[in-house]
Amino acid sequence: MEAKYKRVLLKISGEALAGEDHFGINEEMLKKVALQVKEISEMGVQVAVVVGGGNFWRGRTSKSMDRATADYMGMLATVMNAMALQDAFEAEGLPTRVQTAIEMREVAEPYVRRKAISHLDHGKVVIFGAGTGNPFFSTDTTAALRAAEIDAEVILLAKKVDAVYSDDPETNPNAVRYESLTHKEVLERDLKVMDSTAASLCRDNDIAIHVFALAEEGNVMKAVCGEKIGTIVR
Ligand code: UDP
Repeated sequence: MEAKYKRVLLKISGEALAGEDHFGINEEMLKKVALQVKEISEMGVQVAVVVGGGNFWRGRTSKSMDRATADYMGMLATVMNAMALQDAFEAEGLPTRVQTAIEMREVAEPYVRRKAISHLDHGKVVIFGAGTGNPFFSTDTTAALRAAEIDAEVILLAKKVDAVYSDDPETNPNAVRYESLTHKEVLERDLKVMDSTAASLCRDNDIAIHVFALAEEGNVMKAVCGEKIGTIVR
């Protein structure tokens, strides 16, 4: 198999990292992710990762807390996931740097775009933690923003579900599964691929999104090689 892309942005939702545990980090999932990233990195593909935090905390689900505070907590949750991923990647022999949008120099580098690009050029995996650093945003928006900044060719959106559907396939057996969509369709039909801020950022900057299930082994490789899995938005 041959890689279709030189530089990709892999977005891993927090939920996907929890696996069957539904909360926190499932260490088997961590290892699975690390092995998949290793495969594509060894093919010479430059890999940047944005990780979510929903396996620990989501700002929008708090009922009584000030939204900005709850969102900052969510961003901190993503840093735990970023550190766990770094540990798992390095255990597989993959040199990895974590850069955070909120400074915490004792545990990670601060986000510096040119440095991130330099790490990628040197074959290191770069994990972006703490989202955009701003409340009221999501890690999907972070993925769109960082992909645009580092000039990634595609966002690989590794999720719990295996594709984009017209409705939740777990509750609606008649939900239609899409193989390909345009950004406009995602926005107009309000499909839950990513939030609308993230989807419009991708549309405006012409960033392709490939949605697939993280849990299925070999899927990251298949996506990188342009195989027909999941849903492609372009
Ligand atoms: N978050 C934020 N700004 C960002 C990225 C994330 O405020 O730029 C917060 C937000 O509260 C969100 C939480 O971090 O609910 C976890 O991120 P997200 O929900 O995107 O993770 P996922 O659902 O993909 O696991």
